[in-house]
Amino acid sequence: MDKVVVTGAGGFIGGHLAKRLKDMGHDVRAVDKKPLNQWYQLHPDCDNLVLDLTSKENCYTAVNGYSVIYNLAADMGGMGFIENNKAECMLSVLINTHMLMAARDLGVNRYFYSSSACVYNGDMQTELDNPGLKEADAYPALSEDGYGWEKLFSERMCRHFMEDYGLTTRVARFHNVYGPYGTWDGGREKAPAAMIRKNIEGEMYGKDEINIWGDGAQTRSFMYIDECIDGIIKIMESDILEPINLGSDEMVSINELVDIVEGISNFKLKRTYDLDAPKGVRGRNSDNTLIKEYLGWAPSYPLKDGMKKTYDWIKDEMNKGKDGK
Ligand code: NAD
Repeated sequence: MDKVVVTGAGGFIGGHLAKRLKDMGHDVRAVDKKPLNQWYQLHPDCDNLVLDLTSKENCYTAVNGYSVIYNLAADMGGMGFIENNKAECMLSVLINTHMLMAARDLGVNRYFYSSSACVYNGDMQTELDNPGLKEADAYPALSEDGYGWEKLFSERMCRHFMEDYGLTTRVARFHNVYGPYGTWDGGREKAPAAMIRKNIEGEMYGKDEINIWGDGAQTRSFMYIDECIDGIIKIMESDILEPINLGSDEMVSINELVDIVEGISNFKLKRTYDLDAPKGVRGRNSDNTLIKEYLGWAPSYPLKDGMKKTYDWIKDEMNKGKDGK
């Protein structure tokens, strides 16, 4: 049993990770800057702390007495958020910097950092039929402006803390993650949750159109949350020294994602396209060669099955809102 800190535990992935680690028998401290009543999942058997981890002092408080750190805290969201809040995204560098310093100074054994596919060179994502981004494709660097550059810089900081100070660090580059207990409205949601919400709203409020950002042909892959958690733990426990992809390689266009949602709900809306909305790169997919080589494993849960679970959860949440529960 380890003494484990999960940062960003009031958010989507951190909330699931804290639960899994607790279920595995670890002593878990969950940390987030949001007030407890805004956490997506609150596990009463964790040590839940509300701390803003951009502050160095708060990072030392969060780490003190604990030996394993999963740093997932970051100011982030879907394309709409990261394209319009570049400085705010880059300020997350303070979280990883101060968490690494606290880990180094307080004798932490292992440190995990959640990077992103947004570190990859934009010039390698201009075609719809992306064969999959290999880890080496992060260089020469031309990351997503703001959010992606911060992730790339923080990855390198993990590497140098390992080389110079002997802190064991692990870095995974998450490709889009989706599932229950994630953001589905408010402006930070990503495509799967946004498409589900818009479809349900259509049915609930008698709308007849769904607005899609871009022309809908842009491609992505989406990893179901349970496999993201499996992967995080496998990578943390592995000997993998370099940043590694953690994502699905089932690539779909946004139009195909909408088809999947309509197949689940049995409800179709007329599609309109906002060509001026933030749309990100043209084509993105994960190349899973390296993770399969290292772990003999890669995410494989079918998108339509994960979308069904996510649809059911979002519909429940929206019904609660509608009924004032
Ligand atoms: P999320 O927004 O649901 O969770 C992040 C949490 O971090 C939030 O609860 C937020 O309050 C917290 N946080 C932000 N600033 C903080 C601060 N200063 N101090 C303490 N807590 C702070 O996001 P998520 O989807 O769970 O993402 C978790 C991590 O995975 C992030 O680092 C993100 O960049 C990375 N990631 C996520 C995806 C994805 O598809 N969800 C893809 C690539 C990378």
